[in-house]
Amino acid sequence: MAEPTLPADLKPVEINTNAEIVLSKRYYRKGGDGKPVENSTQMFWRVASSIAEEENKYPKSTVPAETLARQFYDLMTEWKFLPNSPTLMNAGTDLGQLSACFVLPVGDSIEEIFDAVKFAAMIHKSGGGTGFSFSRLRPKEARVGSTGGVASGPVSFLRIFNTATEQIKQGGTRRGANMGILRVDHPDILEFIRAKEREGEFNNFNFSVALTEDFMKAVEKNEEYPLIAPHTKRERGRLNAREVFELLVRKAWESGDPGIVFLDRINRDNPTPTLGEIESTNPCGEQPLLPYEACNLGSVNLAKVFAPEKDAGVDWDELRRIIHLAVRFLDNVIDASQFPLERITEMVRMNRKIGLGVMGWADLLYQLRIPYNSQEAVHLAERVMEFVLEEGRAASRQLAKERGEFPAYAESVYAERGLGPFRNATITTIAPTGTLSIIAGCSSGIEPLFALSFARNVMDGERLVETNPYFEAALREEGCWSQKLMESIAAKGSVRQMADILPDSLRKVFVTAMDIEPVYHLKMQAAFQQYTDNAVSKTVNLPHDATVDDIRNIYWMAYEQGCKGVTVYRDGCLSSQVLCTGDSS
Ligand code: ADP
Repeated sequence: MAEPTLPADLKPVEINTNAEIVLSKRYYRKGGDGKPVENSTQMFWRVASSIAEEENKYPKSTVPAETLARQFYDLMTEWKFLPNSPTLMNAGTDLGQLSACFVLPVGDSIEEIFDAVKFAAMIHKSGGGTGFSFSRLRPKEARVGSTGGVASGPVSFLRIFNTATEQIKQGGTRRGANMGILRVDHPDILEFIRAKEREGEFNNFNFSVALTEDFMKAVEKNEEYPLIAPHTKRERGRLNAREVFELLVRKAWESGDPGIVFLDRINRDNPTPTLGEIESTNPCGEQPLLPYEACNLGSVNLAKVFAPEKDAGVDWDELRRIIHLAVRFLDNVIDASQFPLERITEMVRMNRKIGLGVMGWADLLYQLRIPYNSQEAVHLAERVMEFVLEEGRAASRQLAKERGEFPAYAESVYAERGLGPFRNATITTIAPTGTLSIIAGCSSGIEPLFALSFARNVMDGERLVETNPYFEAALREEGCWSQKLMESIAAKGSVRQMADILPDSLRKVFVTAMDIEPVYHLKMQAAFQQYTDNAVSKTVNLPHDATVDDIRNIYWMAYEQGCKGVTVYRDGCLSSQVLCTGDSS
């Protein structure tokens, strides 16, 4: 594709060093010699102008494409909003695959299994992540009619998906990511729960067990539940629900894997049940999708709407402006996307799902001086996310007026409930923003800071050292900043134990992931989930000495508080982890 010409008066991007490292390694377009052929200004203009151009398809559009391109460019380069990585990498290029999230079906035949392997490879090559449910596969040792042999079962086939992923580097940049889901009533469930026991096994997968309401009730009552062979729908044994639950809890304590998802709850929020049942999420769990569906995500940086003079310290007008532009941006991304499979294009165009979420939440709380682990923070979370959902819906309604509602609207639950019409079947999702938050220089998703100062392992062993800017500013304001203090914080990550050096007011506000009681991790997840159409990416980070009981309580709380799933991670339980404080690196 031709290079877009840069307008002469375009503001150059001011970018931090870490962001520049990430962008030049992975995001800039590369020439034949593998060297970047664009800089950040050119990259953001490529994205802004190509996404704005989609506006020309719609005669009733209220904003000229040229004006919109400028607005999109400013929105991104002021670090107020970023679309998911594939959009940054591929918009305005020949590849044109712009979505981060896909779900593929895995049918119970060799042809269908290997189709899924192939489709996943095509998606990984284009920068997307894939989720699969393996629940339809007949269990290990079940008869195979056509050959008279016996089946290998889901876990054995999972290995093929894992190996295929290993071999495909996405567009020469990063390896693919997968979610593997198995229903708790599948006969191979115990093998699945134990599959990641050996470290490094299935390293390209996150595993989650899909728990049903029936199962959770059986856990409560300490009863047995039936295992059902999917290909015959017949019972094939029974297990004690509480024992299975205990095993899940223990495995999560040992390695963080598998996670759990509440499948019935996810399907209760399926906006288009007539198009199919949701059986899986994308790799990080925040985006449940129908088979062959894809979704593009984007995140508003809440750190940028801090306004001490405004109601609750948030610039609501600016947040509204960002949300409306972001929804238009994400809806345009759907039209600009080229998918590797026709079936995916059809599904995506039927529902036009987008996933607008937030990042920089912990940074906003730091600026507001509200501790993450407080009821005040939980209430503000509800207020902010309700606003994102309401304004996101208003924006989607406006787009429906200009462009028509999503084609499956008439058969959706919104039509039934008299809501809408909307342009998009889902509007909100809270993503992890693992890389986006580095680019925007903010805290990731709705997570608390992992540490106030830390080294981050990114891509190919590169290490980035970062200190939270709001913390540093607060120390200077209070007159307690010193090089020596910074070094000691970098070694510890947390200031909880520094009562002798730091005032209480600072220690209460500048909390980090492991200072926060699990109940507040959960409350925060649940607060955001209440106003999120899709799901919320959140890890309950626990100190190394957390117990199996702690994890059991967390799982139970997640169930009771209406979360769609939960992920826990106990510090240091694996030998390599993405984030580490000075002490553990
Ligand atoms: P980003 O890199 O854009 O910050 P996130 O950390 O927010 O991405 O992840 C959002 C989604 O993007 C994930 O749930 C997954 O679907 C997809 N994704 C993230 N990392 C990868 C990867 N290495 N390979 C494939 N997909 C990925």
